Amino acid sequence: MSGPFLFASSRAQAARCSFSQAVRQGLAPDGGLYVPLAWPRLDAADFARDTELASIATRLLTPFLAGDALAGQLPAIAREALDFPAPLVTLDRDGRLSVLELFHGPTAAFKDFGARFLAACFARMPETDGRKLTILVATSGDTGGAVAAAFHGRPGVEVAVLFPKGLVSPTQERQLTCWGGNVRSLAVRGTFDDCQRLVKAAFLDGELGAQRRLSSANSINLGRLLPQSSYYAAASLEIWRRYGEPASFIVPSGNLGNALAALWARQVGMPIGAVLLAHNANRTVPDFLASGEWRPRPSVATLASAMDVGDPSNMERLRALYPRLEELRQALGACSVSDEEIRARIRAGYRDYGQIWCPHTATAAEAWERLTPAQRQAGRWVLVSTAHAAKFREIVEPLIGHEVTMPPTLARLFERPVQCSEIEANLAALRAALLRDLREG
Ligand SMILES: *Cc1c(COP(=O)(O)O)cnc(C)c1O
Repeated sequence: MSGPFLFASSRAQAARCSFSQAVRQGLAPDGGLYVPLAWPRLDAADFARDTELASIATRLLTPFLAGDALAGQLPAIAREALDFPAPLVTLDRDGRLSVLELFHGPTAAFKDFGARFLAACFARMPETDGRKLTILVATSGDTGGAVAAAFHGRPGVEVAVLFPKGLVSPTQERQLTCWGGNVRSLAVRGTFDDCQRLVKAAFLDGELGAQRRLSSANSINLGRLLPQSSYYAAASLEIWRRYGEPASFIVPSGNLGNALAALWARQVGMPIGAVLLAHNANRTVPDFLASGEWRPRPSVATLASAMDVGDPSNMERLRALYPRLEELRQALGACSVSDEEIRARIRAGYRDYGQIWCPHTATAAEAWERLTPAQRQAGRWVLVSTAHAAKFREIVEPLIGHEVTMPPTLARLFERPVQCSEIEANLAALRAALLRDLREG
C-alpha cells in the first residue's frame, strides 16, 4: 500500500489528509476546502454489476476512501444513508428530457443524501478526546433540516443549526425548529451569507475550540459533497445503459455543492455530457463566467430561497478543478432565472407535463427552455429536482391552482413543537449561545 488516498486544501496543496480526517475537520486548517489530490478513473463498465444506488455509491467512492479508517465500513455507510430512491422520470416520448427526483428522503430535499451519509460516517468514528462533538451548520433552508433529521437522537453529538431569520419559507422554518434534544435551532438576525460567515469564524475561534470539537455539516464538508456524486453516477449509468449516450444535467445551484458533485462524477469518468448551472437572481456565477471577474455580493431574496447565495463558498473547489477561466467556461454553463420566470415555469410544468415543481427545480426547467431546439435534440437532458414542491406550497399552490400533497415523512415533522433561539449575526452571540447550551446540557 502506498498510504491513504489524499485530499488537499483548495488553498495550499501542503495541507493534506485522508477522507475521515477531512470529514472531521470540515474546513481545512488554512480556511480552504478539501478537494481530491488526484482523480481515480472509473468508467461505466466498472459498474456492470451495480444497480442499486448504495452499491453504485460504494463502487464510486471506494477509491476515495482507500487506506482510510472508514474504508471497510463504506458499504454499510452507503446502505444506511442511501436507503431511499432517486428515480429518473422521463417526460417525453423520445427520452430526451427527464427529471431526477432527489426529494424522496426524510426531509424531502436532495440534502438528505449528503447529510445522512455524513451522519453515518460520524457514527462510525471513534471518540478521540472528552470534548463533545458539535456539528455547526449554516442553512439557507434545506440543509439544516436534513442535517438535523440525520443527527437527531444520535448519542455523543450535538447539532447547531443557523438560519437567516425570516428568510426561509414557513414550511422550511418548521423543519429547522421542530427538533429539540441534541439539536439547537438558532435564528440569526442576518442573511445566509452572515450565517455562513459565522460558522467559518467559529472554526477559527480558539475559545470555542477549547471546549468543543467543532465540525461542519455544510456542503463545504467533504462527507456531504462526495456522496452526492453517487446519484449522478446512477442516473448517468441508467441513461447510458438505455441509450448508449451520456446524460447532461441541469442543476439548480446556490452554494454549488450539488453542481460540483456532478462535475466530480464526470471527472472520475462517469458518462456525463454537459453540466448547466441554473441560478436564481443571485447571478454571481453566471456573471463571472461572462465577464471573468469574480464579484461576490450580498445575496438577494428570491422564490428559490435555498439558492439565495451571493458568495458561493464551493467556488474555491470549482476553481481548484478548473484553474483557468477558459477551462471553466468549457466545463460548464450557467444562467440566471428571475422570480417571474420561476412562476411561469411552475405553471407550465404542471400544464405541459403534469409535473409539480418546487421553485428551485423550476429554474432548471427554465434553463432547458432556453436551449436551442438543436441542443435539446442532441442531448439526454436531466432536470435535477432538488426539493418536493410541498416544502414550498405557499408559492406553488396558487400557481397550479390546487393543493400539493405533503409526503407523510414531512407531515410528521409538522406535528412536533417548535424550539428555537434568536441571535445577532456576530461571533460573540454564537459563542454565547453554544456555551450557554454547554452549561445547561
Ligand atoms: C441547497 C439547495 C439548492 C442549492 O444547492 P447547492 O448545492 O447549494 O448549490 C437547490 N435547491 C434546493 C431545494 C436546495 O435545498
